[in-house]
Amino acid sequence: MSAVASRVVRSPRGTQLSTLGWPQEAPFRMIQNNLDPDVAERPGDLIVYGGTGRAARSWQAFDAILATLKRLKDDETLLVQSGKPVGVFRTHEWAPRVLISNAMLVPKWATWEEFRALEAMGLTMYGQMTAGSWIYIGTQGILQGTYETFAAVARTHFDGTLDGRLVVSAGLGGMGGAQPLAITMNGGVALVVEIDPTRAERRIEQGFLDEMTDSLDDALARAEGYLGSRTPRSIGLVANAAAVLPELVRRGVRVDVVTDQTSAHDPLDGYVPDVRHAGVLRINDPAGYIEASRASIAKQCEAIVALKDRGTVAFDYGNNLRGEARTAGFARAFDYPGFVPAYIRPLFERGKGPFRWVALSGDPKDILATDRAVLDLFPDDRPLARWIELAEARVPFQGLPARVCWLGYGERAAFGARIDDLVRTGKLSAPIVIGRDHLDSGSVASPNRETEGMRDGSDAIADWPILNALVNTAAGATWVSVHHGGGVGIGNSIHAGMVAVADGTELGRRKLERVLTTDPGTGVMRHADAGYPDAIAFARSRPSRSVRVIVSTEMCPGSGSYSKVHTMRSGGTNSRNSPRNACSPPSAPMLRMRHFPPGRASIVSTTVRYFRGPHQRATSAGSVIALNTRSRGASNSRVMRSSVSVTRVIVRSDLLVVAICFPLFPS
Ligand code: NAD
Repeated sequence: MSAVASRVVRSPRGTQLSTLGWPQEAPFRMIQNNLDPDVAERPGDLIVYGGTGRAARSWQAFDAILATLKRLKDDETLLVQSGKPVGVFRTHEWAPRVLISNAMLVPKWATWEEFRALEAMGLTMYGQMTAGSWIYIGTQGILQGTYETFAAVARTHFDGTLDGRLVVSAGLGGMGGAQPLAITMNGGVALVVEIDPTRAERRIEQGFLDEMTDSLDDALARAEGYLGSRTPRSIGLVANAAAVLPELVRRGVRVDVVTDQTSAHDPLDGYVPDVRHAGVLRINDPAGYIEASRASIAKQCEAIVALKDRGTVAFDYGNNLRGEARTAGFARAFDYPGFVPAYIRPLFERGKGPFRWVALSGDPKDILATDRAVLDLFPDDRPLARWIELAEARVPFQGLPARVCWLGYGERAAFGARIDDLVRTGKLSAPIVIGRDHLDSGSVASPNRETEGMRDGSDAIADWPILNALVNTAAGATWVSVHHGGGVGIGNSIHAGMVAVADGTELGRRKLERVLTTDPGTGVMRHADAGYPDAIAFARSRPSRSVRVIVSTEMCPGSGSYSKVHTMRSGGTNSRNSPRNACSPPSAPMLRMRHFPPGRASIVSTTVRYFRGPHQRATSAGSVIALNTRSRGASNSRVMRSSVSVTRVIVRSDLLVVAICFPLFPS
């Protein structure tokens, strides 16, 4: 590794392609972006984040992936086996351009020990979640989720704000580095323990952390001052969490919230035990190191439980600290909950999760334009608006400009279409890549994290992420990945990723619509199947399938001018709705309109409701349906509800073509 440690990788920018098309260019740029020194934690070792989460197995494999992507055709698919390219097959245009499997092991062999032995033989690679699936976007990727989690903590326990509250955590790595900013964004004072001073310095440089010290006394004095003046501020304490946490208990420090994001999922290459010369021990005696790590993890976990016993709000932050502590023999390790059952699951029930997108142009203006678009599309979502405002003001871009926000079923497809419109009409300078974390609603089985405490006991059922990957492959994702061990370590999780490119083409658009529906749809399905009432109700109010609806206007007798409406698919309707109002319940997406001279047909993208069951039958020529439409002029934007006559209906297997007519709205 040292021979190539100085190699610096950065993604190309601009509109000049290095490959045969944008669906190939997107993974070509994103794998390089994952290793950009501004993005990756240890790019010289191909490590992106999360302990040893790698983008490729070796530099040789990395180069071979790039070379293959350069010549990959529109109907070919590259297969990547744990970070190494292993084959190209002729598939078809709808197939993903890349299929990835990372760190998969036969269950009985799925232990860190076995994995490390195989890794040492050069046979596998740890891909974490978005490292080996090439959609890591730096610390921002986790920031909104972390921000939302602390917001939920504030809502649940402290009247909606962390104002005047001390939050203690540890780990300022790729993901954990989001904690201090997320805490101060919620008004709190953060004390985050980090053993490696360079990590703390990096977070200060990037604007995620405010200040640092290596003295506990100093850190506590600073924290007390900020709490007294109610100043949101974050302090990095360079020390070992396994020493600091018990000391806080011993001193009786009042801690309001405690959690942890050290790399406890990996007791060898992640967590640093509280022993002298840990680095030497790691090299000379790996088994002794693991034992020392687990002992320290148990000590840290014990301190968290002691704080909890005194009234501190404690939650596990997805790094398997509790699992490793229990392995070390601490019986009360699971006395406090994981963050998913405590705060996130209600979002998962509606297919909500960390949706992200990246400007392949490298131009920040493209992301700022998408920020405006998401605000425009969801004008009533106050938390989203607050997040975008904070992100623009305080979140630095790392590598290719990117944005993350939590969107759910229906919202993702609608926003994907909007992004695609911006690409197609040249309002963005290049295509956008749309993906997500594997920590999502339907894409992960992880009993100590995302699927902890499932209502029906299905925590360890791993069919769901596999179905997610399969359906996203079938639906036209640009690349799809299945991984093992992300977040919580080998043996503890199976998960899947998907990325789709909004390139403004007709084919790309059709794929995008499908995959941004199937992907969150599997999340709703998984939670409905597990018996969550909210997911069941949500699923019942949605379509059983995604369909494409093309609506075109025709001249209405007796009316002067008309507009052409175009457009596409969408969410469905409850078959109990009457035909007359079935397409305009409050949650119905707007039908986006364009005005054209009378008589000219066109197709635009927007979303309308799919009618099934009784209503589909009712949608016949001559029937009247109600539509909510929004007409937008240069200076106004108005919503109108109107009745329109259906003049023609064509129903095919997944396509409902409805011809309607209605007067031109003033623009
Ligand atoms: P990382 O490897 O980039 O950073 C971990 C940090 O912990 C490092 O800076 C390391 O120096 C520090 N550390 C290790 N042992 C320590 C100790 N004893 N005391 C103080 N500091 C110590 O990892 P990351 O990407 O930041 O992820 C952190 C953990 O969170 C991982 O286990 C990861 O799997 C998990 N994770 C959680 C979520 C989530 O949503 N909650 C998402 C992704 C990852």
